[in-house]
Amino acid sequence: MDKIFFSQASLPKFEEYTNEIKDIWNTHWVTSMGPKHNFFEEELKKFLEVKGTSVFVNGHSALEAVISVMRLKGEVITTPFTFVSTTHAIVRNGLRPIFCDVSKKDFNIDVNRIEELITDKTTAIIPVHVFGSPCDVETIEIIAKKNNLKVIYDAAHAFGVRYNGKSIAKYGDASVFSFHASKVFNSIEGGCVAYDDLELEEIFYKFRNFGISSQNVEYIGANGKMNEFVAAMGVCNLRHIEEMIKKRRELVKHYVLRLKGVQGLNVMFKLDDADLDRNYAYMPILIDDGLCKTRRDKVWMDLNRNGIQAMRYFYPTTNQLLCYEGMLDTRPTPNAKWISEHILLLPLYEDLLVEQVDYICDYIIQSMKKNL
Ligand SMILES: *Cc1c(COP(=O)(O)O)cnc(C)c1O
Repeated sequence: MDKIFFSQASLPKFEEYTNEIKDIWNTHWVTSMGPKHNFFEEELKKFLEVKGTSVFVNGHSALEAVISVMRLKGEVITTPFTFVSTTHAIVRNGLRPIFCDVSKKDFNIDVNRIEELITDKTTAIIPVHVFGSPCDVETIEIIAKKNNLKVIYDAAHAFGVRYNGKSIAKYGDASVFSFHASKVFNSIEGGCVAYDDLELEEIFYKFRNFGISSQNVEYIGANGKMNEFVAAMGVCNLRHIEEMIKKRRELVKHYVLRLKGVQGLNVMFKLDDADLDRNYAYMPILIDDGLCKTRRDKVWMDLNRNGIQAMRYFYPTTNQLLCYEGMLDTRPTPNAKWISEHILLLPLYEDLLVEQVDYICDYIIQSMKKNL
């Protein structure tokens, strides 16, 4: 069998895309807030059920922008079980990340641990909806209100997720989504900030274009503009998002069916009603039998040696990264550490075949036995 990659970008039909970009040859408008860009934002607003969306060249620049325009200072409470982008965005804005441990249940911020980390320097909470599982948004909102803190969600994994019958983007002061090729929904590269406070719209509009306003330069902005070809890809893929998620759900169902009950292995999804509101962004499993500490790595190596690209996301946790050595909050986050040492993410993308899932599961089961 050919190598099975961890992820593969969803693409629209070739003709759908070429059709979408045709008028660019009439207008020559290729970038800088053109018609596709603006249309994409309108479509995103509807899909995410928010008053405002601002698209960016990628999710990371959207995250840096939102932290910057909120004019935060001092300390920000966040989690280390995430992609480096979250921590980098905080540090690159001159803020100090304070790492809250995560819950072993959903890998998200442990809301019972937030309040003990709040000091008079704390200005925001930046939680992550890890692998598309919604954080405990209600409790986070209560804590934030009580302590006058902003809440910015790193929702890079959570496009299409619903919670309490609402779009996940309805929670917090702003949510940042990534449209990178490896995500559930992609525009090749891209991202957006979603919010209900319309005052932010104009600020982001200027901020992502060097901070330029009509008369002067108002902000020390960045260049985060999304071009028309990218926006067109986003518009095409957004037409098929329901279908993409449905296909992923079927694959996850098959994974769960095959892997449920395998000794020493835990699957995260229960496929109950709550799971119906998910987006099936990833297929995480935990490899833990309480006996062998290195079993996850053995299984990971076995799979990769056999052409199955599984990933150890997120390992190491961001508070253990070399680039931050000696710089950051050193409080231990034992759950985050434990998860990062036992987790394995399996290949999952829209066009993966059920037969490939079977093939992967056969290898996992075999490898689990071999590496007892
Ligand atoms: C992908 C990702 C980002 C960054 O998004 P890009 O579009 O790749 O810049 C941020 N946070 C998390 C958790 C991510 O997985």
